[in-house]
Amino acid sequence: MKKFDVIEKIVTDIDFKFEYGNKEKIYRYLFSYDENRIIECMAIVHLLDDTPVDLTVEISNMYNCVVGCRFCASGSLPEKNLVLQAEDYLMQVDKSLQESNINYKDYPKFYVAFTGIGEPSLVKEEVAKGIMLIKEKYPNVEVNIATTGFDNTCFEYWDNLNLPIRYFQLPYYSCEDDKIKYIIQNAPKDYDLRRNIDEALRYKKHHKECRVKVNFVVMEGINDNEEDIDKMIKYLEEYKSDILIKVSYLNYTEKCRENNLHSPSQNVMNRILNKLQSSGFDCYIFGTENNTELGCGQLVQNYICDDNR
Ligand code: SF4
Repeated sequence: MKKFDVIEKIVTDIDFKFEYGNKEKIYRYLFSYDENRIIECMAIVHLLDDTPVDLTVEISNMYNCVVGCRFCASGSLPEKNLVLQAEDYLMQVDKSLQESNINYKDYPKFYVAFTGIGEPSLVKEEVAKGIMLIKEKYPNVEVNIATTGFDNTCFEYWDNLNLPIRYFQLPYYSCEDDKIKYIIQNAPKDYDLRRNIDEALRYKKHHKECRVKVNFVVMEGINDNEEDIDKMIKYLEEYKSDILIKVSYLNYTEKCRENNLHSPSQNVMNRILNKLQSSGFDCYIFGTENNTELGCGQLVQNYICDDNR
């Protein structure tokens, strides 16, 4: 197989809550990379009822993520971690649009999201180079970056470049050290979400169009009771007017099953949303209760683990 040949393509239409819509058409791809490695990426048409609101291509920047989130398949794939190159990002965008028969110009907005496998802060130079390459070919593109902020100098680095970054998304699992370490297994000793938010907001000061999202991934028995939410509100209080909180269902994965991690019910999610809103936070629910969506890395893992192939 040649590099970037399609190994698997799955197309699904789902009802899916997000900030400004309620449906998605997803084209998921596995592309060959080298003899042993497979890359995962997807093109998503976001819809409000039946009207497309944007086209987003979610790309990977690594094979095997080094962050090690306990619920995520991306850190436990066979073969060593491999950092992808800027040209590989562009290739994922090109190939996923081409194979889906999609013209990005047909959509009101076109986004490329660094939300697939990998931690963008650790490859900040490559990410900047990749964004520039993608922008050269797709001039109206805007970029979403999800980062754990393992290297929080990334925000300052990107600040000095003229990049079309639309938002940063930082994860929130808890403000308690033991819980953070439990979920983010490879978190650096000095990991500090507040410092990361400060750095992202400093970027935002110079780039007014960029937003800072906090992705609260809710897990039953870990961060979903009244006390957890009160602590979170207190922890994030000072950022209230500057951030948007995404209250996310946990996608069901093999890793979740192994670690006994579950998403709470819709009632609990609504209760959390109401509490955050009544405390003055701007927030929304992301995902579905039936939780049929695949988490990142899961398609690769499912493919590799399918003995019938
Ligand atoms: S959720 Fe993202 S950061 Fe965490 S292990 Fe998976 S790919 Fe890496």
